[in-house]
Amino acid sequence: MGRVSAAAGVVDAAGVTVWLRTFAAEVAARRDELTDLDAAIGDADHGVNMDRGMQAVTAKLPTAGEAGLDGADAGQARPDDASLGALFKAVGMTLVSTVGGAAGPLYGTLFLEMGKAAADRTTLTPAEWAGVVSAGVAGVQRRGKAEAADKTMVDALLPAAEALRTAAGSGASLAAACRAAADAAAEGMRATTPLVARKGRASYLGARSAGHQDPGATSTWLLLETAAATLGGGAVGDSASGEHAAGEGS
Ligand code: ADP
Ligand code: MG
Repeated sequence: MGRVSAAAGVVDAAGVTVWLRTFAAEVAARRDELTDLDAAIGDADHGVNMDRGMQAVTAKLPTAGEAGLDGADAGQARPDDASLGALFKAVGMTLVSTVGGAAGPLYGTLFLEMGKAAADRTTLTPAEWAGVVSAGVAGVQRRGKAEAADKTMVDALLPAAEALRTAAGSGASLAAACRAAADAAAEGMRATTPLVARKGRASYLGARSAGHQDPGATSTWLLLETAAATLGGGAVGDSASGEHAAGEGS
């Protein structure tokens, strides 16, 4: 992930662009896996929903060295110079309008709130990044009213944000902080399996929702895992399901 290191150790638009492209590729590769998880406790559309949304996001992201955040004006900021607020807002709007279901507004809110928090900044230190992610997670909770252990994406997001804050607060590098967040998300994701869902479609199943990993927590783990691989500089791991080593190379 060499081109991310233009601003080593901080989050910038070039790094975020690589992150989101990598996430989109992982969602596409695991679309059926995500949909199968949703088939067990929902309506079998989470992989399809997320893939549709991330393809739309990818289409709007600037390619390396190209102008524009949304394919609009040539001569707009290059990705390296672009404000993170504008970038995250564009991503959030795209997700809201293309993903649908419960996940669309929730993923959309995550990025819209991250955009508000990042505002006109072009780089974020690990501590600032932890703050931006935490603002996004708070937005998801305001919107969906899910608490920890309700068996939703919040079960991956909350520990990830906390791990990010803790790591950044103790002076960890961006790479180490993002790794800690991804590992915490993986743990939170796995911990959804025995839970009985209290929010979303899966809650209609009551006790029968137990014994299945939550699809939204799984796509959220992928979001954090690809962040660790790209923003932090590493490889996409396989701590979710073990048998997949979905390496993105470097
Ligand atoms: P839908 O349930 O409308 O078909 P998706 O299948 O795309 O939407 O997404 C389902 C995921 O959305 C769930 O696995 C869960 O993680 C997440 N989710 C559902 N409701 C909430 C909520 N109120 N708060 C947070 N996450 C939620
Ligand atoms: Mg669904």
